[in-house]
Amino acid sequence: MKNVAVLLAGGSGKRMGTSLPKQFLKIADKPIIQHSIEAFEFHPNIDEICIVINADYHEEINDLIANNKYRKVKYVLSGGKERSDSSLAAIKAYEREQNVYLIFHDAVRPFVSKRIISDVINALEAGKSVAVAIPTTDTIFSLNQDETIESVPNRNLLRRAQTPQAFSYKTIKKAYDIAMNDSNFVATDDCGVVLKYLPNEAIHIVEGEESNIKITFEQDLLQGAQIADKK
Ligand code: C5P
Repeated sequence: MKNVAVLLAGGSGKRMGTSLPKQFLKIADKPIIQHSIEAFEFHPNIDEICIVINADYHEEINDLIANNKYRKVKYVLSGGKERSDSSLAAIKAYEREQNVYLIFHDAVRPFVSKRIISDVINALEAGKSVAVAIPTTDTIFSLNQDETIESVPNRNLLRRAQTPQAFSYKTIKKAYDIAMNDSNFVATDDCGVVLKYLPNEAIHIVEGEESNIKITFEQDLLQGAQIADKK
């Protein structure tokens, strides 16, 4: 089985309020997406990389790959409207191969560590579907529609989701095939699709890291610079 990193970079980064999608903003002199590519390019057990990019930014990403001579990038695909459409683009690209693990990662999480990637691959090779998450220190409220508290779930059983999320090709393809035939399908992340449409598939948790942050808002760039500084 081949280990394929799918870098999801199809978003437009509207919440950041910049004209450039956030994956192209720089931290420590490199575009955020370059940090993410390098985490997988330089991991010895990753065989290839598939980048799903916002359709308007093929030129930027192709230049980045060419200038840095990355060897593992096999596909650069156009993303879709929702994150799940971007995942689906990668799933379609591997239809002919099938003997692969697809390791989906938010391109805007530039500091995913070698340890996390290794643990994800080990779990995949043990036959598991995998998500990365960390414990929550905050209590989390679940709300009613009118924004009053509906319940206070047991914090010991709550985790904050990060990425990668990883599956055998067979598992993720089957989940999306069922989802695409559901007229009530609501866009979610890949774990949400597997959980809903393959409820018997256990998803194993690999411990994430506080530094595996998702760059979403402008203030995250500052935190990102501090993490990059310590690396
Ligand atoms: O929007 P959010 O921060 O949750 O996006 C997480 C990742 O998913 C980002 O790297 C983003 O580029 C990607 N994404 C995508 N296609 C979309 C929306 C988001 O690949 N349509």
